[in-house]
Amino acid sequence: MKSYPSILLLFCTLQLFSQTNQGIKIPYCYDEITAPDFVKAVVQSSGVCLLPMGILEKHGPHLPLGTDIFESRKIATTAAAIEYSVVFPTYYVGQINEARHQPGTISYSPDLLWKMLQETCDELSRNGLKKIIIVNGHGGNNDFLRYFCMSQLHSPKDYVLVFFQPKDSEETAKKIESLRQTKTGGHADEKETSMMRFIRPDLVKTKMAGTQSGLNQARLAELPFQYTGIWWYAQYPNHYAGDATKSSVELGKLLVESEADQLAQLIKKLKQSNKIEELQNQFYKDSANPLNTKQ
Ligand SMILES: [Zn+2]
Repeated sequence: MKSYPSILLLFCTLQLFSQTNQGIKIPYCYDEITAPDFVKAVVQSSGVCLLPMGILEKHGPHLPLGTDIFESRKIATTAAAIEYSVVFPTYYVGQINEARHQPGTISYSPDLLWKMLQETCDELSRNGLKKIIIVNGHGGNNDFLRYFCMSQLHSPKDYVLVFFQPKDSEETAKKIESLRQTKTGGHADEKETSMMRFIRPDLVKTKMAGTQSGLNQARLAELPFQYTGIWWYAQYPNHYAGDATKSSVELGKLLVESEADQLAQLIKKLKQSNKIEELQNQFYKDSANPLNTKQ
């Protein structure tokens, strides 16, 4: 059949044309992008990079050590699929001193956490990703991350660092409450278990959830008006806060998708806005000569 090659050629040409026309899709996962495509990814993302942070720690008796990593990564990749941005690989260097007594905890020293995060941000910036959004999945990181963000003002930076702060709409919050079956929570609880049942159901040992107590043991109740580093251990020595015997895939899906949607909105706005950069630069300039700042 003589006509085959020409039909094939025409088909291939059309394919190539349509690919060129639509643009070849670049993956959003940093570790999946080739070096030549990385240059295009920086442009396509407007320099926005998501840094999903988790930790390796016990999550009750029923969830995997990397639960927070799975959660933050799922939220980040779902958001990046909606609004293109580059998603940094698994990052598990965080604050977890309070679970050093539990098997599997990887608790690096405080100065290493600091250096690792600072140098990771510096390296992303050196590679053109100048708008970094931290997507945190681990509650024990929150105070560290807020202080880390504030510390960026100490010396001029050529990038902006944003800490994603999700807040459900009233409507979503009501729906979450209506799906919830328990009143307590905080760690490896109904919400986290539901999220993991949505993200990686094969890793959830539902039957194990009731084998340890996730109740607040209030072992420092005799001391009011104080904060001490041992507070978490005093309350939740099993590194489990809440009751995960009840959970649902529907709740997990809602929690993940609601956060991912909010993150996608932030990415979109951050691409369009240079407000943080402008304010930072003005601040650095003013800080060099505080006596010139108008009083
Ligand atoms: Zn967690």
